[in-house]
Amino acid sequence: MSVLEERKRCPACEAENSSSLLRAAYHEPRMQAFLVRKFRNPREISALLSGADYELRKCRECTLIYQRFILTEEYTARLYDEWLIEGDAEQELSRERLPPRQLAYFANEVLTIGRMAKKPHHQVRVLDYGLGRGWWCRMAQAFGFDACGTDLATNLVSEARRKGINAIEVDHLAGKRFDFINTEQVFEHLAHPLAVLRQLRGLLDDAGHIKISVPEGRGMEKRIPLMDWTASRWDRRYLLPATPLIHINTFTQRSIAVMAQRAGLHPRPIPIRYEYSLCDTSSLKTIGRSLLRPLYRRTTGATYVFLQPS
Ligand SMILES: [Zn+2]
Repeated sequence: MSVLEERKRCPACEAENSSSLLRAAYHEPRMQAFLVRKFRNPREISALLSGADYELRKCRECTLIYQRFILTEEYTARLYDEWLIEGDAEQELSRERLPPRQLAYFANEVLTIGRMAKKPHHQVRVLDYGLGRGWWCRMAQAFGFDACGTDLATNLVSEARRKGINAIEVDHLAGKRFDFINTEQVFEHLAHPLAVLRQLRGLLDDAGHIKISVPEGRGMEKRIPLMDWTASRWDRRYLLPATPLIHINTFTQRSIAVMAQRAGLHPRPIPIRYEYSLCDTSSLKTIGRSLLRPLYRRTTGATYVFLQPS
């Protein structure tokens, strides 16, 4: 059975016009370094990927950088359920414990959403698509929202229910309506991001919003020749937005906007006063971060975008 499948078109805009930025065989030492660092069973995965390549392509239409060869659905499930080393988790939502500053960040975000919705929290139906350990959903519940969550991993859905979250399987979303859909560090992992965004648009109220937040792909192209998977995950040489088999789509604000247009959505700026709903004053550092983050996002074209129906 084949482990990988090929994406022949841009998964964000469906264009066929793309160019190759990098191609490296998984058996090369520089790619083996990634398998050893990231997976519990690097030998088994190396054998499965025998003869396969890591290839980054750039769409000439929307500028998305995407991996041409990705794991099939079956092996993607195995990757997230069995292969990853937990200590090197890429996203906060998958962690069992979070620091107060991360919880304060979610609290500020759900308050911002409440102000965008312009109605009482109990009337705002929010969906966390990719609920992970349920942190965001529980925060939304705590602030009084009508909150529910879903995840492609069914074990996370059952775990969330045990924590008192209204969690549903992705297959059971049809027919439901939401005022806000949260996707935090989700779209970079999806084999078919445009198809998923269209599905989410179908669940969204016409006055509602979808949030897409993904790793920052701006400047990634220049970093590709430096690729070194033994570097710190915050180092320029560690290509975090394009980690093999995991972050299979590397977005910029522009590629998100083009994908959104294809799904019948467009970016909606957040009024800056809404983003200062709650400030973490526990240290000078957190005060600085809370104050600067909205300004940084505005001036750099960050990959943190609210979308509304066109
Ligand atoms: Zn494209």
